[in-house]
Amino acid sequence: MPARINFRSLLKIGPVQIGNYRDRKGRTKDAAVCTADSCGWSADYSSSTAAQLAARSHRCHVS
Ligand SMILES: [Zn+2]
Repeated sequence: MPARINFRSLLKIGPVQIGNYRDRKGRTKDAAVCTADSCGWSADYSSSTAAQLAARSHRCHVS
């Protein structure tokens, strides 16, 4: 799982955690992070809705 400062998990869809964090400029960003070992997929989104959509469509190649 990539290090994200102040990452706060809001919900989990499958192996993917949805949450938000603050970037270095203090802005809140939404992110989806796959927690499966050796997957490492993560992405930032402009809204939590977009992050949830991405989490549902994520096909984890690990499991
Ligand atoms: Zn994955």
